[in-house]
Amino acid sequence: MDIIFYLIRNLFRKPMTVCFPHQSIDIPKRYRGEHFYDRDACISCGLCAQICLDKAIEMVEAPEGFKEKYPKKYPKIDLGKCCFCGFCEDICPKGCLKLTDHFYLSTFDKNSVIKNPFSDDEKVKVQ
Ligand code: SF4
Ligand code: SF4
Repeated sequence: MDIIFYLIRNLFRKPMTVCFPHQSIDIPKRYRGEHFYDRDACISCGLCAQICLDKAIEMVEAPEGFKEKYPKKYPKIDLGKCCFCGFCEDICPKGCLKLTDHFYLSTFDKNSVIKNPFSDDEKVKVQ
């Protein structure tokens, strides 16, 4: 008979799930989502790329037009390969990689989740 009681009780309970993407639960502190990258603080040491077990980070040269100001290599992060372990953030000696609470990354275009360290500048240049 207990089962009938539980069934009726659960019929009147609020659902445990939320109506994503219209609603979302509170994101916990220290959630590990999309990386924030501070290129001007980066010293191009490459430690983030070396420690990444998923090989999601590749050090790339700056495109033409940026090489004078940025003569070294900088991390390009493929979030499609990333498991969000946070090792790159932990090892960065300059604190220029931070995993943020941005998790809304689903896409049909895998190239759209590759974070090129110069993509924003290139867009600005094109406009
Ligand atoms: S969070 Fe982990 S898997 Fe993702 S880029 Fe950093 S080191 Fe690689
Ligand atoms: S570990 Fe930090 S400073 Fe070194 S290349 Fe990566 S982002 Fe730049």
